[in-house]
Amino acid sequence: MVSVDFKIFGKGEAGIYYPNSQRVIIYLNNHESMTDILKTIQHELIHAAIEECNVEMDEDQEEKLIFFMAWADECLV
Ligand SMILES: [Zn+2]
Repeated sequence: MVSVDFKIFGKGEAGIYYPNSQRVIIYLNNHESMTDILKTIQHELIHAAIEECNVEMDEDQEEKLIFFMAWADECLV
């Protein structure tokens, strides 16, 4: 099971998924709104889902897939 933790200050990224410990860390200082935070949580959990499915793709492909999924979600609402 993936856990999500929040830190007020952190690195430059909005969030990160650590596959070995199945943890997501969300850095709150790198967000502008609650909606922004929820999108980052969704982004990192998609990384976790891809890992869970044992899909072979590199980091660039993974980021592109999540990007397209986010835009598809916007268009289908
Ligand atoms: Zn990512």
